[in-house]
Amino acid sequence: MRRKMAAGNWKMNGLSANLAEVAAMNDAAKESDCDVLLCVPATLISAIDDAAPDVVTGAQDCHQNVSGAHTGEISAEMICDAGAEYVILGHSERRADNGETDKCVHEKTNAAWAAGLKAIVCVGETLDQRKSQNTLDIIGGQLATSIPDLATGENLVVAYEPVWAIGTGLTPTTDQIGEVHDFIRMRLERRFGEGVGRSVRILYGGSMNPKNVSEIAVVSNVDGGLVGGASLRATDFIPIIKTLS
Ligand code: PEP
Repeated sequence: MRRKMAAGNWKMNGLSANLAEVAAMNDAAKESDCDVLLCVPATLISAIDDAAPDVVTGAQDCHQNVSGAHTGEISAEMICDAGAEYVILGHSERRADNGETDKCVHEKTNAAWAAGLKAIVCVGETLDQRKSQNTLDIIGGQLATSIPDLATGENLVVAYEPVWAIGTGLTPTTDQIGEVHDFIRMRLERRFGEGVGRSVRILYGGSMNPKNVSEIAVVSNVDGGLVGGASLRATDFIPIIKTLS
């Protein structure tokens, strides 16, 4: 049985003043049957780790190198040292803003694993790619190149995030979500074997909110959500946590 996960992605939002929101989320996490994770700016990892013991903390990126002359960057080991357990890699905003390729995501995932972090590797198609019926080819290519060979159900979570659904209020139909999640499961089983392939969690991300979470949560091979905007406020995120529990 895969345990469900409610993962928040705060993106470039959050100050120490927001810790009150996290206290309420922590209470919900304590009572929930799912893993509750907040991937926050690096500046908040340590504070949230201290203030919210029932919430797992994560980062939103790491560098592929262990250390060195990379001004402004943060290594996987540093993230781990700050108290994080997870790191999001290959988010479409980083692919678009920072030119991150599947090869780069592969290197970062290896760096995360070497430091003892668990990786949430994001894949997803653009609207043009969906309209031209290339969704599964795109996702298949991203999975093959972004994920290194040593994946396990413990060190890897895959997030399916259609680029056109992120921050737009648009969501795919439940049939479309199910088609992609079933495809990802099939590719994971084929590459890593049934045991590992069945144990990796696959999250849906893209405009998930308290209203649509219940219909998305029951779709085949949806093991939880990666939630952006609706993870910033306790009033939005707590109903999502409860639905996924
Ligand atoms: C995200 O940033 O991963 C995301 C899914 O954002 P939103 O929920 O705001 O669409």
